[in-house]
Amino acid sequence: MTGAAILSLLRLEKKEDIAALYRHAHDFRLKNVGPKVYLRGLIELSNTCVKNCLYCGIRRDNKSVQRFSMCVDEIRESALWAHRNGYASIVLQSGERADEEFVSLIETALAQISEKTGGKMAVTISLGEQSRRTYERWLKAGARRYLLRIETSNPQLYEKLHPSDHSFAERLDCLHTLKDLGYQLGTGVMIGLPFQTVENLADDIIFFRKIDADMIGMGPYIPHKDTPLAAGAADFDAERNLELSLKMIAVARLELADVNIAATTALQTLHPTGREMGLLAGANVVMPNLTDTKYRPLYKLYEGKPCLDENAEMCRNCLENRIKSLGEEIAYGDPGDPLHFRRRLRRQTYL
Ligand code: SAH
Ligand code: SF4
Repeated sequence: MTGAAILSLLRLEKKEDIAALYRHAHDFRLKNVGPKVYLRGLIELSNTCVKNCLYCGIRRDNKSVQRFSMCVDEIRESALWAHRNGYASIVLQSGERADEEFVSLIETALAQISEKTGGKMAVTISLGEQSRRTYERWLKAGARRYLLRIETSNPQLYEKLHPSDHSFAERLDCLHTLKDLGYQLGTGVMIGLPFQTVENLADDIIFFRKIDADMIGMGPYIPHKDTPLAAGAADFDAERNLELSLKMIAVARLELADVNIAATTALQTLHPTGREMGLLAGANVVMPNLTDTKYRPLYKLYEGKPCLDENAEMCRNCLENRIKSLGEEIAYGDPGDPLHFRRRLRRQTYL
């Protein structure tokens, strides 16, 4: 699609036109990546972060957060619970740290998960900006996918959302390094940010195409009261952000066809059935939270995170029922590698 075509879809206003866009994107998903919904169990392993992103509730300077970090045994046991319960894929996510203690903790956890599951668990990591060497070590230890959102593809907007020592260029470099090393590449943006225009969002979709991402994880921006950006979000409109996020999912599906797209938890924060809406607008991945209930309330990137008092078992059952209610089927036991990744590799081989 041209930039103008993307923009005109994101600007649709009439309810029936928007509904037709979602239907079309849902059909397109069924044709291009099939009817199954893939699960990624989310393990939020630490809220300690050296970064200070202006939008995020666990940023370094938020002194009201009680910090936690899981040990290797806790991470491995969560992963093995997932394995026993039919998950073929998990996501390890945390605040950013680049010290050797952290890098080797992750390396050990990855190696143990790989060993105990006979290499059957597809592990995505989402641990921020790291050196090439660290990305290499984690890949060698068993990770196969990396999720690093660009947050916004507009460098000026990126600057407004981060302190001056955070760099758009470095984030972009990390994405190129990850791809170069052979990771399945996931990226995404926040939607409905202060200062963000619809044109910026249209450019984000073009960015996903150009970087040739295999997975897209994007969701609405939701203010957190203890962050500098919350002051700029006084006119936050949950309904508008939800709609804009669903439109972004639909247009990303139409533009990118064979990638995996997540219906993220932040959608559910804005509406009780937000994730189901995401699936019906073109997403094909859901990320049930497996984090121990004692840690969940401490990993609060934004206000109103749902299901804080539920455990992994409850999340699994709840999600299963929700997905069934849509008439769709969960692909238990199937890691659901993005078709886009397989095609990308084939393309590279023939070049
Ligand atoms: N530290 C890692 C991973 C954890 S943060 C990283 O930054 O990549 C994961 C994602 O949470 C971020 O990429 C960001 O897009 C999202 N996030 C942070 N604060 C948010 C907010 N207030 N609303 C919505 N999403 C938010
Ligand atoms: Fe840290 Fe990620 Fe939050 Fe930024 S978005 S403050 S890197 S956890």
